[in-house]
Amino acid sequence: MILKRQGEETSEPLKAALYYVKRGIPVFPLHNLENGNCSCMNADCSKPAKHPRALYGIEDATVDENQIRTWWAQWPNANIGIPTGGITGLTAIEINSTEALSNVKTLCGEGYDFESVPRLRTGTGWQCIWKSDLPLKSCLSILDKVDSRGEGGYIVGAPIQDIDSQTYHWEVHLTEHVPNLPRQLRQLIFHHWKEREQQRIERCGGIQGVPETQRERLFQIVYRFRERDVPEAYVRRPILLPTKYGNPPFPEHEALEILRLVYEEYPPGNDLI
Ligand SMILES: [Zn+2]
Repeated sequence: MILKRQGEETSEPLKAALYYVKRGIPVFPLHNLENGNCSCMNADCSKPAKHPRALYGIEDATVDENQIRTWWAQWPNANIGIPTGGITGLTAIEINSTEALSNVKTLCGEGYDFESVPRLRTGTGWQCIWKSDLPLKSCLSILDKVDSRGEGGYIVGAPIQDIDSQTYHWEVHLTEHVPNLPRQLRQLIFHHWKEREQQRIERCGGIQGVPETQRERLFQIVYRFRERDVPEAYVRRPILLPTKYGNPPFPEHEALEILRLVYEEYPPGNDLI
């Protein structure tokens, strides 16, 4: 069974969700498979069975058992989202090959107690969970086939019923005792984030004629939509409002250029920056 410590008792998603919250780890409900399709009913769903059910996603995450019971009574098969970043203080390192796993272990240094690090076996590799006192962004490719998930991100907790596999399980359980992120990994994430941020600012600067703060703000707004996988067509109207009523008004063609850039450059979901 997936959460061996509690045996069969934790085989249902509700019981697994309660396992997490009883250890002070907030969770929120994700969509799940229904008859082989994502329960969101969108035939083109880009994250089947792995995107939030509730309105605000990670911001809904809670340790309130009543809320957990209410959600899983409403959606008994909902998969479980566990936020990374400030809400939990957790950072997940996603590792997608055995070689990458070995590289991460090497980076942690000889003698590092890797077996004390909560480790989730996923369909494609592993997710190792650490604590971080500092807010860390999500970054792609901090090493070959290694990504990090931090602020604004989440992981899918076991058990999971998804379209690719049903093999998610904790090789080392997630409990209230999570070791701190090793300094080497933290520095690597910072380094990648800074590089990425620099590139983003440079692209942003390519749009002339609008004060930087307004541009930056609009970028962030469009990111939020992209993060939540809102179709581009739906975003046009809300972002064009400041072009009319902003102070000073924002040139419409430049707002549309920001929209185009963000949707071209970044995949949907929580892997941004
Ligand atoms: Zn879906």
